[in-house]
Amino acid sequence: MNSQTFIQIEEQFGAHNYFPLDVVINRGAGVWLYDVNGAKYMDFLSAYSAVNQGHCHPRLVARMREQCEKLTLTSRAFRNDQFPLLLKELCELTGFDRALLMNSGAEAVETAIKAARKWGYTVKGIEAERAEIIVATNNFHGRTTTIVGFSTEEQYKKGFGPFTPGFITVEYGDIAALKRAVSPNTVAVLLEPIQGEGGIIIPPPGHLEAIQALCREQDILFILDEIQSGLGRCGKLFAYQYEDVQPDGIVIGKALSGGFYPVSAFLAREGVMDVFKPGDHGSTFGGNPLACAVAREALAVLLEEKLPERSFELGGYLREKLSSIKSPYIKEIRGRGLMIGIELLAGARRFCEALKKEGLLCKETHATVIRLTPPLVIDEQELDWAFQKIEAVLQS
Ligand SMILES: *Cc1c(COP(=O)(O)O)cnc(C)c1O
Repeated sequence: MNSQTFIQIEEQFGAHNYFPLDVVINRGAGVWLYDVNGAKYMDFLSAYSAVNQGHCHPRLVARMREQCEKLTLTSRAFRNDQFPLLLKELCELTGFDRALLMNSGAEAVETAIKAARKWGYTVKGIEAERAEIIVATNNFHGRTTTIVGFSTEEQYKKGFGPFTPGFITVEYGDIAALKRAVSPNTVAVLLEPIQGEGGIIIPPPGHLEAIQALCREQDILFILDEIQSGLGRCGKLFAYQYEDVQPDGIVIGKALSGGFYPVSAFLAREGVMDVFKPGDHGSTFGGNPLACAVAREALAVLLEEKLPERSFELGGYLREKLSSIKSPYIKEIRGRGLMIGIELLAGARRFCEALKKEGLLCKETHATVIRLTPPLVIDEQELDWAFQKIEAVLQS
């Protein structure tokens, strides 16, 4: 079957909740993807940064195969031998005291919200049902009804209400607005240290430190969503490490499994995580041995192949080259590590379509931003190849 046939079947039988590029992929290796017609593409999206380790990393293939022949799912009704080891490795790596495993990113964000609220009632001592969580404009934290309820993107919400109350929205990067939004019922500030879906938006220098200071002063939890920015994407293990902060909790997902299997986690200090008692929260698949085995290997790959360091260096290299492009379409180039956005003066989609024709797959975000997020295993020659394509298309 050729691409057109697959696309037709998908359009006929699938929900139309995405607007994908018309490329039908059936194989991937490292930074490369191959379509059903045999064409080869370089991946510059990495499944929204879930494939930081590269497609079908051989170590992950082997570990997944080995584990799925042994044990896949016990549920948390029983214990398994992989779950405790992933918890320990995650905590030792990140410095958080405890981890709670879920599957999708949105579920881990929901977990953080539940933890913050219960902490507010049981530790901070606020009045029942009054907890407020401060969030940012232009945020992206997932697609559940509670989470889209505090999105500022009209389309994400329209037609899906009524929504969960208890979220206060302030302008991303505006510390004065954040201070004004604090009330005696504020339990947490929840935001992305770099906004990914929002268009690769970096907060002003010192912003995270200022938020942390405010949170400490007012007895508020400081929680960061590192689902996209974390695990090496932005040139450090976590984006918050560009400042001198230690959040009370973070949410991770995406590259936690190197793209093999949905694995997410809420990591927090003891005093926050310990609000959960048996029966308070759970997930049938959360913490299953297959997920944990793959995630352990994915973390080992991330560290042993020094992917955060690679991202830092190669990201600087690529941004510098991109900044040299003279194009009437470019408004700004920004990013950290290999999390790069090219903001254009007008529609980014047509450039993504043009890059696809050149053999480079990327995806616009927010209509005017081309997001460049290749797998972190990419090398300098491959980046040079991609750069030539990007330069050509932006100058055409
Ligand atoms: C992708 C993403 C999510 C949601 O993760 P899912 O696995 O799609 O539920 C949440 N927050 C951020 C910052 C993300 O990039």
